[in-house]
Amino acid sequence: MTNKLALGIDIGGTNCDFGLVDHEGNIHYHNSIPTAECDEATDLVDKIHSILASEKLLDSIIGIGIGAPNGNYYSGCIEFAPNLSWKGKIPLARLFSKKFNLSSVLTNDANAAALGEQKYGIAKDLSDFVIITLGTGLGSGIIVNNELIYGHNGFAGELGHIRVVPNGRSCGCGRKGCLETYASATGIVRSVSELYSKFKDTSPLSRMEQPHATDIFQLAKEGDKFAQEIVDFTAKTLGNALADFTCFSSPKAYVLFGGIAQSGQHFADLVKRYMEDAMLIIYKNKVEVRISSLHGQNAAVLGASSLVWGKNIRS
Ligand SMILES: [Zn+2]
Repeated sequence: MTNKLALGIDIGGTNCDFGLVDHEGNIHYHNSIPTAECDEATDLVDKIHSILASEKLLDSIIGIGIGAPNGNYYSGCIEFAPNLSWKGKIPLARLFSKKFNLSSVLTNDANAAALGEQKYGIAKDLSDFVIITLGTGLGSGIIVNNELIYGHNGFAGELGHIRVVPNGRSCGCGRKGCLETYASATGIVRSVSELYSKFKDTSPLSRMEQPHATDIFQLAKEGDKFAQEIVDFTAKTLGNALADFTCFSSPKAYVLFGGIAQSGQHFADLVKRYMEDAMLIIYKNKVEVRISSLHGQNAAVLGASSLVWGKNIRS
């Protein structure tokens, strides 16, 4: 095995994926451990180290890139992540650096996805774009003039918490009407109960105890009117928000990333249509909506590993 590999680590609420990636984006090794098995962040660091040591892979690693919820690039800390059991500020980059004796870079998971998409995915040709990660919540990473925007405290790009409905749905952040309470896997499921009275028993959705976002997209594809209405409502809410975000950084494209984005071209087309309807005239028909070309765990690991290759991510 080549001795110039980046260790990319993606920490999620459920699993922690990690892999060894070369500069061209080939994944030479991949593994995953349940995040919940690690009571403390140091347990995670120790486990990854011992797995790679037992595989005799430590010598091939030249640096470590970590994507994590509420990861702060400047401090190298995970700060008050709502979906992790580790509370407060966790100096994760420092913990990895110490254990592996290598430099470590940490950023939030959506920023890591943006870097991965630019280096290896659908955004290779883009110097100005915004990635929208549609998962349990909604994350975003903003690239302007080829630079990821971190902002003065490292938390730029929390577009999921822009409030799109005055006094709307309660959000995990403690406020109301945030975009992610509508446009995310959990937001879509909330739409089912909200729009239920309109369709009652006419849709199979009404009989599902706990429908998942993927069920809703599948039923919509099969022609179910209730499911179609929910997909349409979600696309409209997101499209409207993207039209507004465009005023901030004038991106060439939005890249939709995550399970919902992979539901197909139809959703992306709907989002684009609603975005164009709401767009300020100077941006009309100038902004694309693309779907991520990186899939599943690979996308997250590639994104995290791309942090290792430095600030000039095209190098
Ligand atoms: Zn919020």
